[in-house]
Amino acid sequence: MNENVINYEQSLQAELTALRNDFLGELKSSPNEFTHNLANTLEVNPPNKWLDIVVEKINPEQFPQYDRLMKVEAALCQMEIGQFGYCCDCEQAIEPELLEQDPATQRCISCKAKAARSMDMQQK
Ligand SMILES: [Zn+2]
Repeated sequence: MNENVINYEQSLQAELTALRNDFLGELKSSPNEFTHNLANTLEVNPPNKWLDIVVEKINPEQFPQYDRLMKVEAALCQMEIGQFGYCCDCEQAIEPELLEQDPATQRCISCKAKAARSMDMQQK
């Protein structure tokens, strides 16, 4: 593991902790009883199980932190297995400047552009 990756790992770990707090706080502050109860369930479970618990119960689009939480967890998991920094679409190394901007990036520049284009098409 090179030095950059160690730095990324530290910043992602810090972000993960903050995100989990934010996410839990958002669920808790929801006026919806179901969402509120979900927060209580999460609190008694280890944070690494949260995404599994949540995914079938809420619409993730309602919670911007959820999406980010998934990406950050995925990047940390990739670091663990030594697959960090590879594009999830084409499996080529992701450009270092993209990782510099956001260590949780999952796509290289060209796949990112392709994904953005197909999103545009879906919207039209
Ligand atoms: Zn790619």
